[in-house]
Amino acid sequence: MGFPSDLTIARGANLKPLDEVAAAMDIPSHLLQPHGDHVAKIKLSAVQELADRPKAKYVVVSAVTPTPLGEGKTTTTVGLGQAFSHIGKRATIAIRQPSMGPTFGIKGGAAGGGYSQVVPMDILNMHLTGDFHAVTAAHNMLSAVLDNHLFQGNAQGIAPHDITWRRVLDVNDRALRNIVVGLGGRLDGVPRQTGFDITAASEVMAILALSTSIPEMRARLGRIVVGYRADGSAVTAEDIKGAGAMAAIMVDALRPNLMQTLENTPVLVHAGPFGNIAHGNSSVVADLIGVHAGDYLVTEAGFGADMGAERFFNIKCRASGLVPDAAVVVTTVRALKAHSGNHRIVAGKALPEALLAENPDEVHAGGANLRKQIENIRIHGVTPVVAINAFPDDHPSEHAAIAEIAASMGVRAAVSTHFSDGGRGGVDLAQAVAEAADEPSDFAFLYPDDASLREKIEIIATKVYGADGVDIAPAASRQLDNYERNGFGDLPVCIAKTHLSISSDPTLMGAPTGWRLPVREVRASVGAGFVYPICGDMRTMPGLGTHPAAHEIDVDADGNVVNLS
Ligand code: ADP
Ligand code: MG
Repeated sequence: MGFPSDLTIARGANLKPLDEVAAAMDIPSHLLQPHGDHVAKIKLSAVQELADRPKAKYVVVSAVTPTPLGEGKTTTTVGLGQAFSHIGKRATIAIRQPSMGPTFGIKGGAAGGGYSQVVPMDILNMHLTGDFHAVTAAHNMLSAVLDNHLFQGNAQGIAPHDITWRRVLDVNDRALRNIVVGLGGRLDGVPRQTGFDITAASEVMAILALSTSIPEMRARLGRIVVGYRADGSAVTAEDIKGAGAMAAIMVDALRPNLMQTLENTPVLVHAGPFGNIAHGNSSVVADLIGVHAGDYLVTEAGFGADMGAERFFNIKCRASGLVPDAAVVVTTVRALKAHSGNHRIVAGKALPEALLAENPDEVHAGGANLRKQIENIRIHGVTPVVAINAFPDDHPSEHAAIAEIAASMGVRAAVSTHFSDGGRGGVDLAQAVAEAADEPSDFAFLYPDDASLREKIEIIATKVYGADGVDIAPAASRQLDNYERNGFGDLPVCIAKTHLSISSDPTLMGAPTGWRLPVREVRASVGAGFVYPICGDMRTMPGLGTHPAAHEIDVDADGNVVNLS
């Protein structure tokens, strides 16, 4: 008999009533806002009510540079959270809400896997409590206010070719990437070209993830830049009177969603900003609650340590004021073998035969990536722990090779079998993380607020990515100058580059050296609070493939979602 599917395991879950799950976090039921039987929102008054309680150890889960298959950050985040209860500790987990685009595209759901999952997976992966729909509606409300502003005479003098605000939808639909609005007669609006992005790419999503309170979210929404005047000055959502309506739509969405794992560990699922053009981390409010709700708060940062963890430290922790105590670097045998440069792994295809053969030397050959990602954690003053995420095809000698690399850098490492064994398979990892989190944290941002935008890009490129320097295209240079003039220079930067290499070239494996980071364009998410240089081709509206999951997903007669992977 083969290993059961995620859905089969999830269906067998023994779910507890949510007030019991909340009670395990010492969160009283008056702070819960039930949404059906298996999800409850937590009221924002919880942030104040729990603030005086002891602070949990704050642990971020990151990874080596992943293959296109993903190396198991979500699965390890869930497995580690479950494992703490096996060593007598209480943990809360905080993860992003999956986007429905990828769920119906190729990636499938994002609830962990095997015996380390968030349940029920169909509720998690479909609408959950509608937060993404609220983001979509709030974003498009501002688009409507903007087009109406143009129609009513454009009192702010927005230059038609410098409008930056688009529309969003949580469906992978390439046909909407470039559209013309305002067609028809004079009463149908001002014709202009624009387009749609996926909801996860909305600045409103990043605002949801970074806000600390309703008033703070309201202020961020007001700071959104919708376009520029001919003199280069920015026009904001506040200027065109769009921010208040957006905030009204977003009130309920700012309350984090409480769910549970297969082992009834509490999970806060909240916000889902894109990992490439935004910071790719779950919400600050969820962490402000979860960090006072037990002994450990375990959260995931998207992509490898050069991307998700760097943004976790320099963007998310800047917004929250929270100080991390340890960072997990999820490592797999397959990823390090891929970093040897000997194999090409393609999403949706079986792993190459040659990669499955026992070969600890090849794991060592790919070790440069792990070493660099460990350094990328340490450079922020945080203690790393290597999680060896065990797959069925691995060989013990290959796990030993990863452990040797970690040991050679003085880093704790543990093999974790949480995928096949649930929390008990993660006990060694939980112990290693507990020890690391007990070490004093020297956490520090990589750069000060008042460094120039160019300096910030240079620091990340050279210190984190290992580039020799940065090449800024003339158009990007003009944009940087204009952002500094508009007063956006104090913002952190969120570099949009491929997640498949530490460099900006997805084909370069390991820890590439002797290259320069090319900045083609720079955009500003002023409400979210970061400037994002674009280094490579960034797709903000995916398309569906030849065989999308949307062809298979269905419902049975009782309304259960079937064929969700
Ligand atoms: P990430 O969050 O890093 O993208 P996920 O946790 O979503 O990665 O895992 C990526 C895929 O790999 C998922 O389909 C997951 O079920 C699978 N996976 C992760 N860890 C294991 C493991 N140890 N054994 C088998 N499959 C795994
Ligand atoms: Mg993940």
